[in-house]
Amino acid sequence: MQTVSFPDVSLFIDGKWRKGTGEQPILNPATEEAIGTVAHASRADLDEALAAAERGFATWKRVPVHERYKLMRKAAELLRERHERISQIMTMEQGKPLPEARVETLAAADIIDWFAEEGRRQYGRVIAPRAEGVRQEVVREPVGIVAAFTPWNFPINQAVRKVSAALAAGCAVILKGPEETPASCAELIKVYEDAGLPAGVVNLVFGVPADISQYLIPHPLVRKISFTGSTVVGKQLAALAGAHMKRVTMELGGHAPAVVFEDADIDHAVKLLSGAKFRNAGQVCVSPTRFLVHENVYDRFVDGFTEAVKQVKVGNGLDPETRMGPMANPRRIDAMEALTADAIQHGAKLKTGGERIGNKGYFFQPTVLADVPLSARIMNEEPFGPVVPISPFRDREALFDEANRLPYGLAAYAYTRSSATADEFGRRVESGMVSINHHGLAFPETPFGGIKDSGFGSEGGIEAMDAYVNTKFVTRLNV
Ligand code: NAD
Repeated sequence: MQTVSFPDVSLFIDGKWRKGTGEQPILNPATEEAIGTVAHASRADLDEALAAAERGFATWKRVPVHERYKLMRKAAELLRERHERISQIMTMEQGKPLPEARVETLAAADIIDWFAEEGRRQYGRVIAPRAEGVRQEVVREPVGIVAAFTPWNFPINQAVRKVSAALAAGCAVILKGPEETPASCAELIKVYEDAGLPAGVVNLVFGVPADISQYLIPHPLVRKISFTGSTVVGKQLAALAGAHMKRVTMELGGHAPAVVFEDADIDHAVKLLSGAKFRNAGQVCVSPTRFLVHENVYDRFVDGFTEAVKQVKVGNGLDPETRMGPMANPRRIDAMEALTADAIQHGAKLKTGGERIGNKGYFFQPTVLADVPLSARIMNEEPFGPVVPISPFRDREALFDEANRLPYGLAAYAYTRSSATADEFGRRVESGMVSINHHGLAFPETPFGGIKDSGFGSEGGIEAMDAYVNTKFVTRLNV
């Protein structure tokens, strides 16, 4: 495989790529080497992006929907054509194995296609009037300029959902991309540029996240905020948006229960859960997190799962043998070490892993902890990494209490052969997404989002367009 050269990343404002007023290095998490730089935006840069977005919105909202559709389909095709290079860039800056980067990049093209299509289906309606000569119409209009903030774990996927839904609705966007993984996100914006998107419709900035959000969210030109990241930051940004009466979409943290019932196909559960858990080294908001296993199948599951986890080969994501790459940044290594030590201190049994690998690159061993008490931090805080706490359960009511105990409500998983149990799980678990006997989340056409502290709004399915449109009611009496 020929390795691509890694690009320095500029700001994209008013249809031009340009330097900012500062920059920061981009590190390869597998080697800790600086592989490029990313530009930082100043207040003046943000003002230019806002002015460009204002002009861009005025242009784009008038572009006929069918033309928007054609441009977006072209962007999707360009992404497919370029996906090999972009996937390598993503692996170099983010760490995930190359096959996962390819899946993410190609899935993004499908997401663009989906929103291009949905843009054509933003139908209004006519409501029967109560008086003769009155005509009552409901129309959907773009909300305006969107400020979007996306994180480092899926550099393209987190951005493409927001940008594409906004564009399909006729909005303009200022995207603050992830400073630690900016290059693949910038490649996404470039396919839109090369597909012919008018200047100013999408602007890409990087910098000090808090400085940018504090400036953009209250700004009168910005009408809509969309954020993906941690619950603690999401609450701060939602509060700021609330103070300025801005609409929000919040895609935040999770702590998904993964329940293995007594009647589950254990081999199937071991295979799928061990595959899903270590995707992107566990740095996934919908990652199965606290494993709750019926006591009658507990030992069998723990032994089988531990054996499967021992087979997960960790290494540089560009190595074809690698199944799990490094953590994306050193903060995650610190978190894995602290959560593992805390669980063991609370009486958990370490079945495998538990340590950092080497001292170059942010590698951490795939880790299994059994008999983890609820008092351990990892049973309460989102680990966002490759550490799996497992606990037994006996009583079904206690199981549902536990599945719903935390303030999170993003994803939930269950394994059972019983339709009645599957039905009960689907009904009783408090979660935005529930997946039973398989891991079938995050398709473009299916809703994606959480409840409770996991956030608000959907970033998939037909629901995702609602975030970017205003509903307007127009009534007139024909005179
Ligand atoms: P963090 O909470 O500081 O940052 C999370 C994201 O929010 C980053 O992209 C960051 O740039 C952004 N951010 C932080 N403060 C901001 C602000 N004031 N304004 C605008 N954006 C801001 O911590 P982190 O170390 O990057 O990630 C840690 C935790 O974040 C993880 O443990 C996980 O819980 C959560 N996270 C969730 C997702 C997700 O997909 N929902 C993605 C990345 C991180």
